[in-house]
Amino acid sequence: MKVEWPFNRCIICQLPPVLPNKMTEEHVIPAALSGKLKAEFLCKNCNDKLGEKVDHTACSDLEIRRAALEMPNMPQDRLAKINQRLNEGQRFVIRSPGQPDVEAVAKGDLIQPVTFVNARGRLVQPTDLVVKELRRFMLERGKSEAEVRDAIDKYKAGPVGDDIEPTPGFVTHKHSFENATLHTKGSPVRSLLMLKIAYEFLALILGPAIYEPNPAQDKIRSYLENLDDEYPFIEKFPLADKYRIHGIAVEATKPFVSFQVRIFGSMAYRVNFPGYTVPIRRWGYTHDLGSGVDGPVDRDILSPPASSTTKR
Ligand SMILES: [Zn+2]
Repeated sequence: MKVEWPFNRCIICQLPPVLPNKMTEEHVIPAALSGKLKAEFLCKNCNDKLGEKVDHTACSDLEIRRAALEMPNMPQDRLAKINQRLNEGQRFVIRSPGQPDVEAVAKGDLIQPVTFVNARGRLVQPTDLVVKELRRFMLERGKSEAEVRDAIDKYKAGPVGDDIEPTPGFVTHKHSFENATLHTKGSPVRSLLMLKIAYEFLALILGPAIYEPNPAQDKIRSYLENLDDEYPFIEKFPLADKYRIHGIAVEATKPFVSFQVRIFGSMAYRVNFPGYTVPIRRWGYTHDLGSGVDGPVDRDILSPPASSTTKR
């Protein structure tokens, strides 16, 4: 579900986009977590920053991953797709004895190291990229296809863990992945993720009022702008039942507003905004991850959506 956002200012840094950039599309629940609720209300800068530091890190969070796999009544094809998205966003570190850590990303079924420059200033990159580079390098210097093939063979047969020069002037380093172990990267930034979701949902409710001067709002924004994971007013609450939904609900029945955020049915958080009120009492959004249907709801999201109780 895409919400129209006709206001040309970022809801986080409050600035208009730096030309020639336009406002960029933001998923309130990260796309990497199969979220569908979106609006063009972040500048590229804020979107890139939150995408890198919050959305992608969420994919490495083991509790989030477990919640995704444990949703009940999930059609296999949809579950496979959710899992694939989680893996696409996942960052890894490959650790090999006696060698520096190498960062890697998942691409389809493969975990592929990213290109980096090692301590001796040598470029280390995945084999397919080296082969491509080597070919380009040699063809530019008038070498024949046969010579290119020879050099590629020489590179592939060369020793790992060492510099290798398959053709004069082209030096690369073959990193050894022998005895390598795979680790997920980064620490969970769960509270920042929940704060981001709640704040963006607040913006969808308020519309242009999100830009009005307000110390309570400025405070919330400062956590997001500084990627500060210490926002104190977030509670996790236990759930007895599991549903196959993402959900966000606003509750303004207390003296202040709070947001319920549910990710993959079983991860439930309450994000409180003390000293802050909104002009509605109760409103929510759910996304049924089994059917793909999403939209606004006017009831408590803790009640199961009708579709998740029907037998398949
Ligand atoms: Zn911004």
